[in-house]
Amino acid sequence: MGVSIKWFFSVVVSLCVSFSANAGLFKISINDLGGLTPSQSSVFDDAIAYWESYLIGVQSEFNHNIVIDASGVALDGVGGVLGSAGPTGITQLPDSTFVYANKGRMRFDTADLASLESRGTLFDVIVHEMAHVIGFGTLWTTDFFIAGSQSNYVSGSGRYIGEYALEIYRREFVENATFIPVELGGGAGTANSHWDEPWPGGSSDLMTGYLGPYPISLSDTTVASFADIGYLTTVTHAVSEAATVWLFLFSMGLVVTRHHQRTTGASTRRLQIFQAMSV
Ligand SMILES: [Zn+2]
Repeated sequence: MGVSIKWFFSVVVSLCVSFSANAGLFKISINDLGGLTPSQSSVFDDAIAYWESYLIGVQSEFNHNIVIDASGVALDGVGGVLGSAGPTGITQLPDSTFVYANKGRMRFDTADLASLESRGTLFDVIVHEMAHVIGFGTLWTTDFFIAGSQSNYVSGSGRYIGEYALEIYRREFVENATFIPVELGGGAGTANSHWDEPWPGGSSDLMTGYLGPYPISLSDTTVASFADIGYLTTVTHAVSEAATVWLFLFSMGLVVTRHHQRTTGASTRRLQIFQAMSV
């Protein structure tokens, strides 16, 4: 027994070293401000595990963390305003041009939390909103206030041109595409921050502006878009075989939550995802 434990640690240590060059670690944590039931809090944890399984680091030698204030508050009952989510703080790492969210907020109406949970769609909504906190649609372009940082989308153009996502989009959906279509309808908070619906990646993709139809899917293009805002992703950054083994060992605890059951109910109800940046 003692021998195998020693072997395990020597593998972890040696592979840690092989993965450390220009690949800072990425972690999300929740600052629970109350109003969430234990089961709702656990869904936030599942959402963290979900994104950390695809976003395996940052394009930097430094580690990066996002702390998300999460809360449930009584707003206007079931329907109407669901809440708000988005980044509330940004940072730059010393060796990188990217602007990253380092703080965020996810605030939900408690009546909607209960309703979403009972319908089995809470996980999808939280994962979707957490993507906005990380930067999907909210930090696509920051060079207008921090010169030299990312510029993947011109507001109002409907054309996402970030290189990593576009490359994967060409392989996955539209060969020779020069842009990925972005939603321009739905008003502020939906327009300019989601894939267009319908788009060649499918209406069920997690990051269109309207949740559903079920089951929700996650395209490689969506994952790759996070590489355009400074992350290392599973679809854009091949890691060495050794590092893959290490990541596997490291993430064994996450494997179960990656297979979160999200096919509950063949609901055709289309839920407009609430405004990402509203307060
Ligand atoms: Zn959204």
